Amino acid sequence: HAHGETVLQVDKARKQFGGLVAVNDMTFDVKAGEIMGLIGPNGAGKSTMFNLVTSLLPVTKGEIRFRIGGQLQRIDTLSSREIVKHGIARTFQHVRLMPTMSVLENVAIGAHLRGMHNDFTGIATSIARLNRAEEGALLFEARKQLERVGLGHMLYEEAGSLALGQQRILEIARALCCDPTLLLLDEPAAGLRYKEKEALADLLRKLRGEGMSILLVEHDMDFVMNLTDRLVVMEFGTKIAEGLPQEVQQNEAVLEAYLGG
Ligand code: ADP
Ligand code: MG
Repeated sequence: HAHGETVLQVDKARKQFGGLVAVNDMTFDVKAGEIMGLIGPNGAGKSTMFNLVTSLLPVTKGEIRFRIGGQLQRIDTLSSREIVKHGIARTFQHVRLMPTMSVLENVAIGAHLRGMHNDFTGIATSIARLNRAEEGALLFEARKQLERVGLGHMLYEEAGSLALGQQRILEIARALCCDPTLLLLDEPAAGLRYKEKEALADLLRKLRGEGMSILLVEHDMDFVMNLTDRLVVMEFGTKIAEGLPQEVQQNEAVLEAYLGG
């Protein structure tokens, strides 16, 4: 994707759970090669927004488009699997890994599942069907992505023994195995120590430098301030502000949402 052109376009996307409007006619876009922040208090609808973009949940109304073959095309009508193939990969708010398996195996399995059902259901049968060559290709890709994110020296450690910050980076490596052009990260910095947040921010800047577009959900405003190019702020499912981080930080509605929450 050419730098600066729109890659993701969310157009009046709405999601209702019965009477609860979790996402209320949200409109925003993500441009190629930028880190876009999606922030807001707990329960604002951020994770639900990710579930709509990745088709884990159907939209109630509205459209979501992604740049495919040079044109913005609707993806809210596609399956999660198709969306991954078109180049959108994600991580989840809570770490999902197999703690007693190695770092390398965790990423290889993710590469195999293509990020689809990271709860690992049916994984044993699905792996048993792989032949030697397929298994080798998966391990090769997993190793490559682990080296890319700086975990190349930890391939054979038990995933569960890693610090939380490294587990989050492992999950990013797993998402990268889908060969995405847009990466959706759901609160990757939550619970991390200061140094871990720095390492994560450095990695995301490096990926952006390689042309990756990133949509980053965060609860904590401090982390996004020095990292993101633009921000969208949600409260109660609705967009309450949008703009450069410095502008948004001084927005009255945003201050109120955060102080009041
Ligand atoms: P955030 O990620 O910003 O903290 P969520 O998107 O997880 O917020 O949740 C937004 C609102 O939607 C919350 O009130 C939450 O309880 C509700 N919600 C989320 N997922 C579901 C679901 N599958 N069924 C019913 N309500 C849900
Ligand atoms: Mg959430």
